[in-house]
Amino acid sequence: MINSNSELILEISDLHAQVEGQKILNGVDLQIRSGEIHALMGRNGSGKSTLSKVLAGHPAYKVTNGKVLYRGEDLLGFEPEERARLGLFLGFQYPVEIPGVSNIEFLRVSTNSRRKQLGEEELDIFSFEDFVDSRLKLVQMNPSFLERSVNEGFSGGEKKRNEILQMALLEPILSILDETDSGLDIDALRIVAGGVNQLTNQDNATLLITHYQRLLDEIKPDFVHVMSSGRILRTGGSELARELEDSGYEWIENELPKTGES
Ligand code: ADP
Ligand code: MG
Repeated sequence: MINSNSELILEISDLHAQVEGQKILNGVDLQIRSGEIHALMGRNGSGKSTLSKVLAGHPAYKVTNGKVLYRGEDLLGFEPEERARLGLFLGFQYPVEIPGVSNIEFLRVSTNSRRKQLGEEELDIFSFEDFVDSRLKLVQMNPSFLERSVNEGFSGGEKKRNEILQMALLEPILSILDETDSGLDIDALRIVAGGVNQLTNQDNATLLITHYQRLLDEIKPDFVHVMSSGRILRTGGSELARELEDSGYEWIENELPKTGES
């Protein structure tokens, strides 16, 4: 839904970045306002995950040009932890397992860090359990997953649900979900999408990275962007995702002037 009182949450201008000395992002421009859902699509290797890692502040990814404003402030000047506290959430394509760290304790520490930033009171173990309980339903997760180590031995779908649970607890301003749909069967996909839909409101925004239409049948994006060779080639509405589903990415790339490097 487009809201005329919306806030400009993310403004990426001419972003260039490299990893391991290799240029991956080649001038990304993207603006996201509150109340909006954006989908970022594109072939494997086009730079989608790289963009999400740069935004999250992954140390291996070096920005060589351009700027990123998050709610008017220089995002790249913040440490990764600060970005999270300020309401930037990244759901990973491959969520990490953290053996030996209990899921509930991990969730409580990250939730409290965010609450502190918001000026809300921190939750003790007991009040946190009540809070988590109310959110577990959103992702239809069994409470026994809270007592296990973070993601350890979770199936692909359980890991993704745990990511959405984390999102539900942190109440982010901008959520970037990288291939949250990959490896999910249709039931898990619906649960994950339902969670995202219920968490979406006029004050936050979501960037969904996906290369399938499937997720976009469940979560309706306001804008669809197609990335290729580290740049956004095209932006459209949800019909653009359908065109991609029908005819692949080739036709878009063929439209490009063959300018070589620039
Ligand atoms: P996508 O998410 O669109 O599939 P990625 O951002 O993961 O694309 O990858 C874009 C390109 O960057 C690929 O060619 C990939 O091999 C390269 N790349 C990404 N991360 C690294 C890394 N840590 N080291 C070396 N190359 C990388
Ligand atoms: Mg990726």
